[in-house]
Formats: sequence, structure tokens, C-alpha cells
Amino acid sequence: MRFLPTEFSAATAPTEIRALVAQLSGLSPDEPISVLPGGQEAAQVALAKIQPQLYRHDRNFLDGHVTRLSPYVRHGLVSPQQLMQQALQVAGVEAGERFIQQLAWRDYFHLYLAQFPQAAWQDVEPYKTGWLAADYAQDLPADIAAASTGVRLIDQLICELLQQGWLHNHARLYLAAYVVHWRRVRWQAGAQWFLQHLLDGDLASNNLSWQWVASTFSAKPYIFNLENVEKFSRGRLDCAHPSNAIFDDDYDALQAKLFPNL
Ligand SMILES: Cc1cc2nc3c(=O)[nH]c(=O)nc-3n(C[C@H](O)[C@H](O)[C@H](O)COP(=O)(O)OP(=O)(O)OC[C@H]3O[C@@H](n4cnc5c(N)ncnc54)[C@H](O)[C@@H]3O)c2cc1C
Repeated sequence: MRFLPTEFSAATAPTEIRALVAQLSGLSPDEPISVLPGGQEAAQVALAKIQPQLYRHDRNFLDGHVTRLSPYVRHGLVSPQQLMQQALQVAGVEAGERFIQQLAWRDYFHLYLAQFPQAAWQDVEPYKTGWLAADYAQDLPADIAAASTGVRLIDQLICELLQQGWLHNHARLYLAAYVVHWRRVRWQAGAQWFLQHLLDGDLASNNLSWQWVASTFSAKPYIFNLENVEKFSRGRLDCAHPSNAIFDDDYDALQAKLFPNL
């Protein structure tokens, strides 16, 4: 599996890690190799760096102060309880609130799935898109899997997923909305695809988030437009490329195009 945080630099990584990455790359040349330092020590270092007081203002920006701790949380190296305590210690109740709210989403998804295990793969409710479940393609199209949709910002995000095994929450929302609403693919296919590639792949958070985007676990479908991506990507994605024009409209116009039966 793979992980390449943006701050990782092959030049400055410890020699043993570089040697290990080189050795593993030789064994499977087509697979990017994870360089996320594993283990309790690395998890504690990352935990000590969280900044909930900045997070509350910029967590929706792709370069915002999110923690990237999810792979450690997923694999049990840091508990949500520890994260909450650290947030309270660093930022206090008021400044730490937004961060703790996000932890609560995780808890909610886990508790919901424990109570209703069928929600992992079955629609909780019908789609509220004007389309029936049968109108959605069963399988993930090959161009999506290969990051060759021809839509520049989408291909950039897919490459990030494949190479790093981690995506910012907003990027996950963009990709999921593109798959389900622009390509009309059932959310289950997208959820399975994410689970194959995410280092933090987690059945509850992932699948219920996909259902939330799809509208089978929420009151309305989640969609975005190019203006939103321009704002939250702050130049990290090639938003000006003409292939992104499919997103370049106001929300009413996009709704009318994507959900004409409503
Ligand atoms: C389509 C889609 C798929 C997702 N799949 C996963 C997944 O497989 N595994 C996973 O852990 N999260 C998933 N999420 C939730 C969220 O995107 C990630 O938890 C978050 O981006 C991880 O980055 P971070 O550690 O920097 O989070 P931070 O923003 O720093 O938050 C700290 C911790 O809180 C929890 N958290 C934060 N936001 C959420 C959220 N919206 N829902 C649930 N928990 C949250 C995570 O444990 C995270 O590590 C998904 C979201 C979407 C929209």
C-alpha cells in the first residue's frame, strides 16, 4: 500500500526508510510504496502537531490544517479519545469544538453501522435525485479507475488517491459526487474503489459518507461547482483547464442538468 504525504521528501527521509522503499519498489515496480512512517512513535509525533485553533478556520481548504491522522486512527495507533483530549489541551473547548465535531461524525458512523450493519452496502433510503437505483451503473468505469476521465481536476484527484492513499475530505466529496452524480454510478462501486486505495479505509466512515453524497443517507444529493473547487483548492488543482467546464455553472443549473426528473 502507498502513502506519500506532501511534506515527505525522499531526500530527507531517514536512510532506513529510503532503503526499505527502494527495496519494496524493486519487488513491485508498478505499485507506489507507502512512506508513511508506521508505528506508535510516529503516531504520537503526528498527534502532538495538531492545531485545532487553525483547523476551525481552514479545515475545508485542501491545504488547511487537517491532521492527516486518519490512517493512524484507522489502524488503532491513536484513539479518537486521545485526539479529543489533545485538542482540548491545545485549543480549549471553544477553539477545539469544530475539530471535536468531526470526531463525532466518525463516532456516529460507527455507532450507526453497528446498529444497522446492512447499511454498509445497501441503500439506507431511496436516492433523492429523481433517478432510481436501477438507473445507476453497477461498476466503476475503467477511465475513472485509471485516472483518465479527461476532466483535469478529477484526474488530478484520482492520481492523488492512487499515489498517496489519502485525500482531504473535500477532495473525497468532489470525487464521490463526480462518480455518483456526473457519471451516474452506484455509490457502492465508488465506496469499494476508495476502500481499495485509502490507507484509512474504514467501512463505516467511507460507505456512509458515500451514501450521504449519493442522497441515500441524507435529504439531498451533494454536488459542487467549479467556483467551489477554485475557492477551496487555492491553486492546488488546475481549475482553469477547459475540461473542467462540466462543473462551471451555478447550483440551480447543475441540479437541472444532473437531476432533470426532479
Ligand atoms: C466519500 C468519503 C469517504 C471517506 N472515507 C473515509 C474512510 O475510509 N476512512 C476515514 O477515516 N474517513 C473517511 N472519510 C471522512 C474524512 O474524509 C476523513 O476522515 C478525513 O479526511 C481524514 O483526514 P484527517 O485525518 O486529516 O482528518 P481531520 O479533519 O484532521 O480529522 C481528525 C479525525 O477525525 C475523523 N474525521 C474527520 N472528518 C471526518 C468525517 N467527515 N467523517 C468521519 N470521520 C471524520 C477522522 O478519524 C480524522 O482522522 C470519508 C469522507 C468522504 C466524503
